[in-house]
Amino acid sequence: MQSGIDYRQLAVSGVQALQPYQPGKPIEELERELGISGILKLASNENPLGTSPKALAALTQALDSLELYPDGSGYQLKEAIARKIGLHDSQITLGNGSNDLLDIIARAYLDSSRAAVCAEYAFAIYPIEIQAVGAELRIAKANPPDHHSMPYGHNLPNIAAKIDDKTRVVFIANPNNPTGTWLDREALHGFLQRVPADVIVVVDEAYTEYVQQPDFPNALEWLDEFPNLIVTRTFSKIYGLAGLRVGYAASNPAVADILNRVRQPFNVNSLALVGAMAALEDDAFLQQSVLTNAAGLKQWLGACAENGWEYIPTVGNFITVDCKRPAAPVYNALLREGVIVRPLGGYGLPQHLRITIGTEAQNTRCINTLKKVLAA
Ligand SMILES: *Cc1c(COP(=O)(O)O)cnc(C)c1O
Repeated sequence: MQSGIDYRQLAVSGVQALQPYQPGKPIEELERELGISGILKLASNENPLGTSPKALAALTQALDSLELYPDGSGYQLKEAIARKIGLHDSQITLGNGSNDLLDIIARAYLDSSRAAVCAEYAFAIYPIEIQAVGAELRIAKANPPDHHSMPYGHNLPNIAAKIDDKTRVVFIANPNNPTGTWLDREALHGFLQRVPADVIVVVDEAYTEYVQQPDFPNALEWLDEFPNLIVTRTFSKIYGLAGLRVGYAASNPAVADILNRVRQPFNVNSLALVGAMAALEDDAFLQQSVLTNAAGLKQWLGACAENGWEYIPTVGNFITVDCKRPAAPVYNALLREGVIVRPLGGYGLPQHLRITIGTEAQNTRCINTLKKVLAA
């Protein structure tokens, strides 16, 4: 290096400590590496039914005005979301995916004088966002893996114990990714009652539409009761629009006002605005996706029982299987068979693989390949 300067050392200390997020392996990458086709990707919790047909039709029409900036306020989409979920549009903040909102929340409410809490095995973006802004990262021990009704799940007393005067934000995923574990209505409501009102609690509901558990909460219902609550949702999962990047946060209007100051003025592009609007009204696609996932989950639970595979309880569109041995070689062997799943070594779960629930045919292929690989 000619200047003699280490440009890594030049970064702010929180950023120096970051480990990059490891996304699911793209299909094209495996195609390039192995020279094979017909690859099955069940690694990023994408919708196996594709994209809402209503969204696709609307997107095609929107292609003729790409020279124009999008509506920076996202007025129509905010209005449509607010109507759909029974809130006022002043309570909605749009994001370039819900990850963008997590970033906006961290920049709005955290800095090096503050701390934030998330759970062990929680979604990997939370620690990245917390550390990137220089805040203190506090990780609350999860439930133990054995002799617990929700192994590896968020432990709310442990999270509460990490909250003190320095804490400004708590991130909770319900259900959580990559574990699939969830918090019931009573537990989460009780937690919100105990958290001081000057601590922002983010409840990330990226998979909420898939959940069929009767005591599963809809945190939107609590926004009036808890002005420190932010609920995030996304069009990436059940709506099948992960490639467009669009999600939203619902909060009290004062919080939304702050988030809207921090976000980039055109953080949601014009196609994403149009696609999300149309997808929001595609109840048929949503319903079909729920049914496909419920059937697929049943198929996976059957396969786990039949093969003696242990898994973490899940209500999402994925299942996390315990290989009972280092999962990396299993992951690699699956890749050679053209099946991409998600290794979780980066999450401190080196023996687990997270597998997205697919269509019946996709599940059958993945189950049979896993059987073969584990037997080899
Ligand atoms: C997939 C996922 C999201 C969605 O991220 P987007 O940026 O909206 O694509 C958010 N939270 C969790 C826990 C997820 O698993």
